[in-house]
Amino acid sequence: MLVPRGFAALMTPGDPCDPLLRQVLPLRAERLTVAGFSRDPVGDTSADLGHGLLRKYAGRALLIATGGCAVHCRYCFRRHFPYASLGLGADRTAVALALIAEDPGISEVILSGGDPLMLDDDRLEELIGRLHAIPHLKRLRIHTRLPVVLPSRITGALCRLLAGTRFATLVVIHANHPHELGTQAENALRRLRGADLAVLNQSVLLRGVNDAVDTLCALGERLFACGVLPYYLHQLDPVEGAAHFAVSDAQALQLGEELRHRLPGYLVPRLVREVPGIGSKIPLAESVRNGDRFL
Ligand SMILES: *Cc1c(COP(=O)(O)O)cnc(C)c1O
Ligand code: SF4
Repeated sequence: MLVPRGFAALMTPGDPCDPLLRQVLPLRAERLTVAGFSRDPVGDTSADLGHGLLRKYAGRALLIATGGCAVHCRYCFRRHFPYASLGLGADRTAVALALIAEDPGISEVILSGGDPLMLDDDRLEELIGRLHAIPHLKRLRIHTRLPVVLPSRITGALCRLLAGTRFATLVVIHANHPHELGTQAENALRRLRGADLAVLNQSVLLRGVNDAVDTLCALGERLFACGVLPYYLHQLDPVEGAAHFAVSDAQALQLGEELRHRLPGYLVPRLVREVPGIGSKIPLAESVRNGDRFL
């Protein structure tokens, strides 16, 4: 179990069902073998070219910048990802950067992980500098949970580093419940927005955490109050050990519909599923019609 103190402080003491606690607390239920839940639910290992560069999305390359995170989310779809087999930093990054440089079809790099902001400013600056040198790259995207779980990481210096490039830069954070966005997270998000960075949020639909329309509405409103727009609401990737978080497709679709009725369009996240081998997220309704996979 790994959870920053500041995030733990947002939990209600003594409540075993606290929605923040539930995201980080290991339960015996993780050990159950459940049909359909596997170690690589989204086909990352087959998309990974061996250097932590995933090219499964058109025009975008996803670089696993580091395996480290500040928090261990129990439902993480990469909870079994073989980070250790990625090898050592410098060589691996050089190969990944060379692959990006030789493919002019890539216009956006997504720094992912783990959490790319676990890298210190110097290493991040070096990495971004090397991406800068690749002329066909136009956009830089950072997928990070740190503004939420470790807001102190979002320093003025980091914001200047992220803002001081020729890239159009997007930060995609990850919050699942409005209680995650306390005053410190709000201030961190304001610093990012103050640096002219676009900030979107992705959430995972999680039983016992945010599987209620009131919670999801409150999340959308809280995000907007922090200057962030909702982007994706992911149906859970069926990763081994996370079956106790599953919400059925039928309930997920119902929640999506209620959200559309209750919120302005810009606060309604896209309810999607990742299907292995497909290069984009699929709207859940379409995926269910296709009979892709059911929860
Ligand atoms: C879907 C996904 C992406 C690509 O995101 P888009 O916003 O659809 O381009 C990148 N990283 C992860 C972890 C994803 O699930
Ligand atoms: S922060 Fe993201 S990558 Fe890290 S454990 Fe949580 S869901 Fe997984």
